[in-house]
Amino acid sequence: MTSMGQKEIICAANWKMNKNPQETEKYLKELVQLAPSGSQASFAIFPPALCLATAAQALKGSQIGWGAQNTHFENSGAFTGENSAEVVKGLGATHCLVGHSERRSLFGETNEDCAKKVAAIQSQGMIPVLCLGESLEQRESGETNQVILKQLREGLKSVDWSKALWLAYEPVWAIGTGKVATPDQANEAQAVLRKELVAMVGAEKAAAIPILYGGSVKPDNARELAQQPEVDGFLIGGAGLVLESLMKIYTAANNKS
Ligand code: PEP
Repeated sequence: MTSMGQKEIICAANWKMNKNPQETEKYLKELVQLAPSGSQASFAIFPPALCLATAAQALKGSQIGWGAQNTHFENSGAFTGENSAEVVKGLGATHCLVGHSERRSLFGETNEDCAKKVAAIQSQGMIPVLCLGESLEQRESGETNQVILKQLREGLKSVDWSKALWLAYEPVWAIGTGKVATPDQANEAQAVLRKELVAMVGAEKAAAIPILYGGSVKPDNARELAQQPEVDGFLIGGAGLVLESLMKIYTAANNKS
């Protein structure tokens, strides 16, 4: 909660395949300086896997969350090129993304894979951020709720409700396109997810699961989106690559400017 008694909006940045270790160090050290004390836990940064060791050093002693954009669901084995949740945790990470739409569309990740990854991440004591959202075609044919509910139910098949979990509603048509969902569209879809969470785990626990919105969040649309009751934070792609815009989104969303 902020001093005004409103909820603190989470700002998570997914860097995708951008930034090298030097850029990671510079950005994160500056973020530690800029992020208001007491609010650092409202930030979570997802650098490329090979920059995670640098992130661990740069964020040491801070409350800023960080982690991988993807993990394998096994702890070890013959999975060339993959990284396990155990190794990510070993570096000190706090969170991991699961099922980002680019993982689903470019790398064939299924809801079943997501379910196993959620379980693996939780078993390591990290917070999975399960991403879900409909395509433009699915929205236009009225299938949004059906699609996101299926992703939710199947992706959380093996979830441990006693452990922390975040969700990120990211309509595929809004990711990296500059086409942001309207505040009503975001709130409506997130209310559908919340209602299902209530049915799955009860009102109290459902209310404690942050649901982030992702898809072309920028400093100039953050405030209005953040005012929606079901929007607990943002998962930010492009705008999160520039520290200044991440901070502008944070201040706009939390009414600090
Ligand atoms: C994302 O990659 O999760 C994302 C929301 O990207 P962008 O903010 O660039 O749309």
